[in-house]
Amino acid sequence: MAAVASRRDRVSTRSGRPAASLIVSNDSGLALQTKLRAYFKPWRQQSRPSSKAEAASFSATPVTADQVFTREDLSGAQQMFGRIAEDFMRTEVLPREKDIYARDWPLTRELLLQAGELDLLRVDIPEAYGGLGLDKVSSAYVGEQIGIMPSFAGSLGAHTAIGTLPIVYFGNADQKARYLPLLASGEMVGAFALTESGSGSDALAARTRATLSADGTHYILNGQKMWITNGGFADVFTIFAKVDGEQFTAFIVERDMGVVSGREEPKLGLDGSSTTALILDNVQVPVGKRARHGGPGSQGRLQHPEPRPAQTRHAQHRRRKAGINARYSLRRRTTPVWASDRRLRDDQAKAGRDGRALLCVGDAMVYRTLGDVDQALEAVAETESEQSAQDHRRLRRRMLH
Ligand SMILES: Cc1cc2nc3c(=O)[nH]c(=O)nc-3n(C[C@H](O)[C@H](O)[C@H](O)COP(=O)(O)OP(=O)(O)OC[C@H]3O[C@@H](n4cnc5c(N)ncnc54)[C@H](O)[C@@H]3O)c2cc1C
Repeated sequence: MAAVASRRDRVSTRSGRPAASLIVSNDSGLALQTKLRAYFKPWRQQSRPSSKAEAASFSATPVTADQVFTREDLSGAQQMFGRIAEDFMRTEVLPREKDIYARDWPLTRELLLQAGELDLLRVDIPEAYGGLGLDKVSSAYVGEQIGIMPSFAGSLGAHTAIGTLPIVYFGNADQKARYLPLLASGEMVGAFALTESGSGSDALAARTRATLSADGTHYILNGQKMWITNGGFADVFTIFAKVDGEQFTAFIVERDMGVVSGREEPKLGLDGSSTTALILDNVQVPVGKRARHGGPGSQGRLQHPEPRPAQTRHAQHRRRKAGINARYSLRRRTTPVWASDRRLRDDQAKAGRDGRALLCVGDAMVYRTLGDVDQALEAVAETESEQSAQDHRRLRRRMLH
């Protein structure tokens, strides 16, 4: 599957490795953010708009076709990987829809393992840790295929995105080496636990508490999380807590350290994915499982390490949903119920047309943005490799003299 790592020419790295893998394998998420900021700084300084007219000038600036990534630019390898994902969904997952919606979690786990065998869980994990380290366009395109069953996509997406990426970006070398290969294969299932009954968007209001044990070897976690995807069967959780009720940070917690799942939440369309509370009653977490960059204000970095294909996956779910809505509303136009009310019928038809137009716009926006993100990451990777070549030359000179 390494062949899939190849990207369009204009965004391939000199070393031939995908840009994203070069970046995410960087040991420090903070360093990555600093570099991204440095990359965007000149652009920001040049183009800070001084008036509304200037702010809108992007819409009048000519853009050539090769500067814009579209769905049609997907490479043969990316399309092939997408087809593998789609085949997997059609042949292995969709036929088991009934059991998945009956919350047969061992089956969901089995399907995640199969997805791992097909490399579908490795897309965003660096090569050094058993992943493919692919670009964001590839990641979104694979996610789009998985999205044909939203419940399974919820389980798989929570595993590959919020369940895995905090370790990719903020884990230390030991944590990455222990967890990423197992998450890549699907032998371990991941989850992310931030939300509490009293804090959702307002993450810093979390009440889960971590206290260092008297001998300094463990943090003791107490509190309760809610609405955790994969909560009923995940093996490893990124759990947010405040050390001594102050420093907000995250811990990598294995289930057998004492995590207990609450009951399954009943849902509507996503009822084939697991959503539970997590009860943390004196959960003993070795100090080495604390994520880096802890401390006040760190939650922004831990939650949103970079423009995430997860967002685009959600956009893809919406795109598919909009497509279904559009088709449904057009179909309904022909039913006798609506036919009796001409105005309603016309409204339905218009909604169908608008829906289809909107989904095309959304699709174009997603792929264009991802193409831009991949290009930006590529530029950072090149700066990084030039920098390391310079460092190497400097070191060599120092050794020779
Ligand atoms: C099916 C499902 C799965 C989930 N899976 C997970 C998971 O795996 N892990 C996890 O941690 N959580 C999970 N969640 C929780 C989800 O991420 C939360 O719902 C989310 O964090 C929002 O929190 P809330 O519902 O408490 O909304 P609130 O925080 O109460 O926000 C409600 C609304 O108010 C707005 N708002 C909030 N603060 C402000 C403000 N200061 N100014 C203006 N507007 C504001 C918000 O944007 C939102 O629109 C899941 C939820 C669901 C439904």
